Amino acid sequence: MTFRHRHLLGIEPLHPAEITNVLDLADRYVDLSRAPHKRSDALAGLTQINMFFENSTRTQASFEIAGKRLGADVMNMSMQASSIKKGETLIDTALTLNAMRPDLLVVRHPHSGAVNLLASKVNCAVLNAGDGKHEHPTQALLDALTIRRAKGRLHRLTIAICGDIAHSRVARSNLILLGKMENRVRLVGPPTLMPSQIGEFGVEVYDDMAKGLEGADVVMMLRLQKERMDGGFIPSEREYYHRYGLDSEKLAHAKPDAIVMHPGPMNRGVEIDGTIADDINRSVIQEQVEMGVAVRMAAMDLLARNLRSERDTNTEGTMV
Ligand code: ASP
Repeated sequence: MTFRHRHLLGIEPLHPAEITNVLDLADRYVDLSRAPHKRSDALAGLTQINMFFENSTRTQASFEIAGKRLGADVMNMSMQASSIKKGETLIDTALTLNAMRPDLLVVRHPHSGAVNLLASKVNCAVLNAGDGKHEHPTQALLDALTIRRAKGRLHRLTIAICGDIAHSRVARSNLILLGKMENRVRLVGPPTLMPSQIGEFGVEVYDDMAKGLEGADVVMMLRLQKERMDGGFIPSEREYYHRYGLDSEKLAHAKPDAIVMHPGPMNRGVEIDGTIADDINRSVIQEQVEMGVAVRMAAMDLLARNLRSERDTNTEGTMV
């Protein structure tokens, strides 16, 4: 199974066949996770450190469960309480941790590019758990797995990604992945929440939900990321919900069997109506969380295989 990467920093460098490989392996890990004995030794003897410089509930828990299910020794570093507070730089923290010889570093950071920088300073595999507005590769992979399982395929689908696109690393990683797999991607939201370089991605852009959702197979809602906004991007939450919040009236424009997704955390009554989020016939939000664990197991397993073969080669003296 090929996955020729030292790190998982983004979707951008991945080949479509590599994406398919991650998803195929993740399917197997869904089965393992549903079994009464949820244990493999794929990461046995390896140390995984989770470093979250930004708050997280599901992603951190998901990486922790994934590592433990594969037998890794998992440690969560609370970066709020760390030496960063005492003025240590990101690089010094990375070098200190590197000296403890971890094998997998899972990093979330509020600045775009910070995880790539860190990866260039350490000897282990680094997984990006979200960096600023840049990428969130495991989220896009878990979304892809959810779509593939719900729709039976991951190509030639019409997918509407709706809401705060400008501040969303989830939107960015998803539109790259879904484009690579030859889907029709639409971005729907107010012009103030569209990134300026959107033309580069070859997607369709709509500022009207009815038009943007017309005939869609998948409706992916995004959270309004107020923590990344430095001004008035929307008139009011009430007005935003009225125009862009997903309710049954707007959803009626999508295909009758369209699925509804949201990466969480959700603001009910702001970007999505609570009854739609809870409607098990339309919403796959809980499946997304389940697929998250399986995808993270697959990604860490593949990176660990590469790490082991790189180390074996180095021990034999032939450098890679
Ligand atoms: N949990 C996702 C992220 O970390 C989406 C969000 O926060 O809205 O980017």
